[in-house]
Amino acid sequence: MKIESSLIVNGKRVDGRKPEEIREVRMKVGLIENANGSAMVSFGKTTALAAVYGPREIYPKHLQDPEKGILRVRYMMLPFSVDERKSPGMDRRSIELSKIIRTALEPAIFLEEFPRVGIDIFVDILQADGSTRVTSINASSLALASAGVPMKDLVCACSIGKVDNVLVLDINGIEDNNCQADLSFAMMPGKDKITLIQMDGLMSKEELMKAIELGRKTCLKIYEMQKDALRRKYEEVAKE
Ligand code: UDP
Repeated sequence: MKIESSLIVNGKRVDGRKPEEIREVRMKVGLIENANGSAMVSFGKTTALAAVYGPREIYPKHLQDPEKGILRVRYMMLPFSVDERKSPGMDRRSIELSKIIRTALEPAIFLEEFPRVGIDIFVDILQADGSTRVTSINASSLALASAGVPMKDLVCACSIGKVDNVLVLDINGIEDNNCQADLSFAMMPGKDKITLIQMDGLMSKEELMKAIELGRKTCLKIYEMQKDALRRKYEEVAKE
């Protein structure tokens, strides 16, 4: 939805947040029994459910790589996830986002330990209100870890936007549609390695450097949340 009025009034955003405030974050690990690992992550009204299958034999066989395993990601926004019904199935956007999510996650996985096999991640967006790709990356990272896939580190992600000339964290749907620029950022916080920077729109060099720093700080917080969600799951399992 395009709006003409200001998106920041008296230092507050359309949903009442301060520029550097993220929405309420919820994380839950282990929701799909048939999957090897799964997780659901919400940033406010954006919710992603990720399920990991594998490492497992890959079909069609010609896709097998004798040197390493392959990661496949399928991102999809469900028809009821947005106000205006989204037609089901893959479109250009979901193909692009699937690739971006895979690119952000791949550097964290020891794929060389799994020649000829594949790891499949299916991410479904149950509710969308901006920043679905970064929410998907967080959910997929948790799902991979809960599947026991050997990883160098968790991958944490967040979005940063430029709205009314102000840098804001964790953009919602209205901000996404009306911002001057938006940047998706992912990193392995324990390794201090960035795995994704993707930007639409324009920022000055100074703004870009500040946005990256904001992303880095936020990912460190998300890292603690991801570790906490995994800890909670294993405490539950230990009690059973
Ligand atoms: N959106 C929508 N319908 C669509 C695609 C997107 O309503 O078919 C909304 C949704 O809230 C999404 C936002 O637009 O989160 C921004 O989408 P974008 O493609 O920029 O990716 P995202 O920010 O979700 O990673």
